[in-house]
Amino acid sequence: MLTMKFGGTSVGDVPRLQEVVSIVRQFLGEQPVVVASAMGGLTNVLLDTAQKAVERRTGEVNNAVAAIQDRHLKIANTLVQDYPRRAALIAAQQEMIDDLSNFYQGVALLRELSPRSLDSIAAFGELLSCRQIATILEDSGIPAKFIDARTLVRTDDQFGEANIDFAVTEPALHAALVPLVQQGIVPVVTGFIASTAEGITTTIGRSGSDYTGSVVGAAVNSSEIWIWTDVDGVMTADPRNVNGAKVLKEISYREAAEMSYFGAKVIHPKTMVPAIEKKIPIRIKNTFNPSHHGTLISASPDNGGTWAKTVTSINDLAIIAIEGNGMIGVPGVSGRIFTALARAQVNVMMISQASSEHNVCIIVPKKDSAHGLKTLREEFSIDIAKKIIDDITMRGPVSIVAVVGEGMIGSKGIAGKTFSAVAQADVNIIAIAQGSSELNISFVVEQNEAKKAVQAVHDAFHL
Ligand code: ASP
Ligand code: MG
Repeated sequence: MLTMKFGGTSVGDVPRLQEVVSIVRQFLGEQPVVVASAMGGLTNVLLDTAQKAVERRTGEVNNAVAAIQDRHLKIANTLVQDYPRRAALIAAQQEMIDDLSNFYQGVALLRELSPRSLDSIAAFGELLSCRQIATILEDSGIPAKFIDARTLVRTDDQFGEANIDFAVTEPALHAALVPLVQQGIVPVVTGFIASTAEGITTTIGRSGSDYTGSVVGAAVNSSEIWIWTDVDGVMTADPRNVNGAKVLKEISYREAAEMSYFGAKVIHPKTMVPAIEKKIPIRIKNTFNPSHHGTLISASPDNGGTWAKTVTSINDLAIIAIEGNGMIGVPGVSGRIFTALARAQVNVMMISQASSEHNVCIIVPKKDSAHGLKTLREEFSIDIAKKIIDDITMRGPVSIVAVVGEGMIGSKGIAGKTFSAVAQADVNIIAIAQGSSELNISFVVEQNEAKKAVQAVHDAFHL
C-alpha cells in the first residue's frame, strides 16, 4: 500500500485535480490510499467567515458561503462528466453548504465563537474537498470511496490542536481502509479532522493533514507515505533568501522534525511521529513537478558525507534578558522564568544561559514579547527591589538562525566554522544555543542581518 497525502494547493483548482487523478492512476498498482486537505486557502476563509458571523456581518458571511459553494460547484461541473454522478455530488455539496450556513447562523445568534465551534466549521473544508475528489476519481474510472475521518480518528477535546488516541484510531483505520484497498477501491480520507469519543468534531492543528497522512499510512502499514505539495522538497535554505539553495535528496526523521520546527514549512512537525515507529519512509513530492525525485525522509538517509544540511531563520522574535549578580548560584530562577511564561502562554523559542549564571536570555515571538516582559517583571518584582536581579530588558526584532544536520553529531569544528563564517560576513551574534543532541546549532542576530548570516553559513558548508 502507498499512502498519498495531497495538500491544499494540490487539490485547489481544476488542473491540479486533474494531476491528482493522473498520479493516482499511475500508482494504482501500489494500492494507493489518499488523504487530502481542503482546497487551498479554504480553511482560512472558513475561519475568517466565522469571525464575521460572530460580529453579525451577515452580508459578508452570505457572500463568503456563496463563494465557497461556487468554487466547489465549478469543480463538479468541470471535472465530473457522468450526469447522475455529478448531480449526486452537487446534492451532497449543497447539503454540506446548508449545514455550514446553519453553523454560521448559530454563531451569529449566540454571538459566541468557541474553539469547539471553530473546529466544526473548519471541518467543512476537508469534507467538501474529499467528497469531490472521490467522485472525480470514480468519474475517471478509478473506484474510490469518500471517508470522513471523524468516524475513525479519535482525539481528546483539545479543540484546535487535539491529540490523537492511537489505541482507538489505528485499529479503526486499519479495519476500515484495508478491506477497501483489497477490493481495489481507493479510500479518500479527510485530513486534519477527527472527533472525540462523544463524536464532537475536532481538528489536529493547522496544516495537520500531513499528520493525518502519516497516521493513516502507519495504520495500514503503507510501504511509503508520500506528501504531495507545491515544492520539490526540503531545501538547504529558503530559496527566496539564499542564492544556491538546493533540494535535499535524503534526510532523517530527526532532521525533518528539527527543520520543520525551524521555519522550513514543508511538512508538519508531527508527521514524522507515526512513521518513525514503523520505519515507514516519507517522501515529499511536488504535484507541479511530479517527475522530480523530491526529498526522502527515513531512519538512515544517505548523507553524502555532509555535516550540516540546512540553514534556516525565524524572524519576528524578541530577546528578553534577565541579569543580575544576585542570581548566581540561586536555584530556581530558570524554573520561575519558565513557569511564569507558561502561565502567560508565551512560547519560548530558545534559551541561553552562560555558566556564570549572571544572565539568562530567552527568545520569544515578538507579538508575545511585551506581555512576556511584563509577566517577568511582575514575577521578579521583589528580586528587582532587593537587587538580586538588576534588570529585565528586551530588544528586537531579532532572528534565530538554525543550522541543522545529523552529521554534526560528534564532528569537531562545526560551531567554529559556523561562527567564523558569520563573523566574516560582519554579522554580530547576540546569543547562542546548542542542544546536547548536537543536531542543531542556533544563534540570534538582529533581524536585518539574518539574511546575510544565513547566506554566509550556507556558503561555508557548501550546502
Ligand atoms: N486545511 C487545513 C489547514 O489549512 C489542514 C491542512 O491544510 O493540512 O490548516
Ligand atoms: Mg494546507
